[in-house]
Amino acid sequence: MLENKTILITGSSRGIGAVTARLAKGYGANVILHGKTKSENLQKIASELNSQYIYCDVTDEEAVKKNASRLGDIDILVNNAGINPSKTFMELTNDDWKQIFETNVLGLVNFSRAVIPRMIERKQGRIINIASVKGYSNVAGKPAYAASKAAVMRITSSMAEEFAPCGILVNAVAPGFTNTEMTLTTLSPQIQKQIEKIPLKRMARPKEIAEMVCFLASDKASYITGQTIAVDGGYSING
Ligand code: NDP
Repeated sequence: MLENKTILITGSSRGIGAVTARLAKGYGANVILHGKTKSENLQKIASELNSQYIYCDVTDEEAVKKNASRLGDIDILVNNAGINPSKTFMELTNDDWKQIFETNVLGLVNFSRAVIPRMIERKQGRIINIASVKGYSNVAGKPAYAASKAAVMRITSSMAEEFAPCGILVNAVAPGFTNTEMTLTTLSPQIQKQIEKIPLKRMARPKEIAEMVCFLASDKASYITGQTIAVDGGYSING
């Protein structure tokens, strides 16, 4: 499905990003991995997939630009890196808000801005942003995270319109509760309560999210742009 395509996946040292990297490799892609630091996880998966890797903080525009300039042509960019702190409105400091928006929103902007010029020259490209079901509805306890993911959805549709004439398709995937390290470190009684609200009554497996990312990255999705596709066991049905 992804033969002869080069896919750069931010935050692919672990979690959904790592599973997406493995799946994309299985579908024939040349995978470029990314992590915040040169962690053991990142090096392990790079040697497992025999893949190139880069590392930098997505919030550091200069570092992102420098790293991206060392890579060859990127066919597909997956903006997956993100953080998900559990803090209520009154607990969140301005620094927390900045950190969440800089990572989840500006990180996406920085990486996109670094690869889009070459995509425009080549008149082709795919960008897939990882949003969240929490971007759709009210979420007690995570207002900054929810707001950052709502922003990801709106940026996705705006980018799709701006870059459609350049042959670049931009979509988002909004995962529901997915069984990864990020979820396991958040409030578990709250998660239990959320699972009860999921029509399919279980969390997503990371591979179920990765399959949608790979589909949107493939030629099979040649007429889809500006969309956010929920992969959430039906969680968002009721708004
Ligand atoms: P994990 O916490 O398992 O992994 C996060 C990844 O992002 C790591 O590779 C980490 O790198 C990287 N990262 C975090 N901050 C930065 C930064 N400032 N600069 C560079 N890289 C960074 O996350 P998940 O796999 O659970 O989530 C992946 C995406 O999916 C996120 O955008 C998240 O919001 C979204 N999502 C997740 C859900 C879930 O239930 N898990 C549900 C809905 C959406 P390093 O290893 O170097 O720290």
